[in-house]
Amino acid sequence: MQNYDYDLAVIGSGPAGVMAAVEAGRRGKRVALIERLKDIGGAGINTGTLPSKTLRESALHLSGYRQRGLDGVDLGLKREQITVAQLLARKNQVIENEIALVTDLLRSVKVEILRGHAHFADAHTLVLDETRRIRADKVLIATGSRPRRPEGFPFDDPDVVDSDTILKLERIPETLTVVGGGVIGCEYASIFACLGVKVTLLESGPKLLGFLDEELRALLEARFRALGIELLFDEGVERVIHVPGPGVKVETKAGRRFAAGKLLVAAGRSSNIEGLGLENIGLATDKRGRIAVDAGYQTSVPGVYAAGDVIGFPSLASTGMEQGRLAVCNAFGESGECVRMDTLPYGLYTIPEVGYVGLNEEECQAKGLEYEVGRARYRDNARGQIEGDLDGLLKIVFRPADRKLLGVHIIGDKATELVHHGQLALELGGTIDAFAGACFNFPTLSILYKRAAIDGLLRLEKRAKG
Ligand SMILES: Cc1cc2nc3c(=O)[nH]c(=O)nc-3n(C[C@H](O)[C@H](O)[C@H](O)COP(=O)(O)OP(=O)(O)OC[C@H]3O[C@@H](n4cnc5c(N)ncnc54)[C@H](O)[C@@H]3O)c2cc1C
Repeated sequence: MQNYDYDLAVIGSGPAGVMAAVEAGRRGKRVALIERLKDIGGAGINTGTLPSKTLRESALHLSGYRQRGLDGVDLGLKREQITVAQLLARKNQVIENEIALVTDLLRSVKVEILRGHAHFADAHTLVLDETRRIRADKVLIATGSRPRRPEGFPFDDPDVVDSDTILKLERIPETLTVVGGGVIGCEYASIFACLGVKVTLLESGPKLLGFLDEELRALLEARFRALGIELLFDEGVERVIHVPGPGVKVETKAGRRFAAGKLLVAAGRSSNIEGLGLENIGLATDKRGRIAVDAGYQTSVPGVYAAGDVIGFPSLASTGMEQGRLAVCNAFGESGECVRMDTLPYGLYTIPEVGYVGLNEEECQAKGLEYEVGRARYRDNARGQIEGDLDGLLKIVFRPADRKLLGVHIIGDKATELVHHGQLALELGGTIDAFAGACFNFPTLSILYKRAAIDGLLRLEKRAKG
């Protein structure tokens, strides 16, 4: 029997690492959680999820966006009246609070937090900052990811930023060019447009967010245009030219030239594997640094596990937490259930918000599945009217033969919350009859489910009549 200092060493204190450490601590294991930075929490707390969502909420509040549909109510502030300090003050408060909560949680289950950059000497030995060696029975790699910085962009120019450095902006620019129409690019484009910034979004493909249900994607693009965002498709950046004074000049591949107060490059993420010593344990990665794992989150090296962004898709805080927890269940002999990929909810904190779970129409078509849909619009819902959201849509996709729910797709206020009703129904293998027959509080957005289900049932009746 080997003599180890810890039962589990976790490298990285982001959402995946923290939840893994808590799960192991809760089971009475001796756990070390290693973090190289001053603050624990990783991208989830410090640079990604929480800061961007807090900025978004501040932007919605300060701009009066939520009151847009209410006649006679005009709380909209002018961009010049909003200071970045106002936006950032809330962010810092939320981050500090969350770090304190997570630290308390870790302490309550006796997880030891160790500072330093960890690398493997062998599969059971980690070296911290070249000064300390610890030995652990099992190791979890939860080192996360960072913004990918493609060649050709002058990141030494303070006006060229990525999703980390955008949080250090001192002032709200008059214009912003966003390169990349993925989730992060779309979220920031809409947040800044909401603040009155003139935003141009360049996407190298023919549309934004190709994985979305087509109907929702078209609605989102229309809402982006209504917010004043200029969308350029099949377009990329040829050159970024320094100019005297603030801002840069952007030249696109199609030859357009325009000035940008700030340029945000949102070109995906790369895994943090540098200096981890993976070569010392014979662990290979793909070209973006992603580590392959089995269904129990174990790598090809026995006893070494990986979870969160470092293993790639879907790279969300929500899924990283569950992966970390399940890795621990598997590591200590109780085989946990793996995350069910078919019922994972997705949330896009764009303005407007998008939430979805399960299959969309295009996926049903590609799989050759027979399906029907039911729709309910926010404008026909009392709560939607009260809140002034008249553009939203909730759409359910179901199997006509037995009315089994296949997917739910929502665009509009609180979409990322509402989607969880659909997630539960999917996990339980429910039918749309459950929604049609349910009694929901009134007036709520949840009633959209009932309306969409009734719409779906009426469509089935029409079909039956031919
Ligand atoms: C702008 C933005 C918005 C986002 N919005 C959402 C959202 O709304 N919802 C959602 O679910 N997800 C969102 N995400 C994704 C989410 O932030 C990530 O999926 C999540 O943080 C990944 O968690 P993780 O634990 O794998 O790694 P991370 O959070 O990246 O943490 C990894 C930690 O490991 C540390 N580390 C790395 N190497 C070492 C080493 N060798 N030694 C010691 N420590 C090390 C790092 O310093 C870091 O603290 C967003 C991301 C971004 C960038």
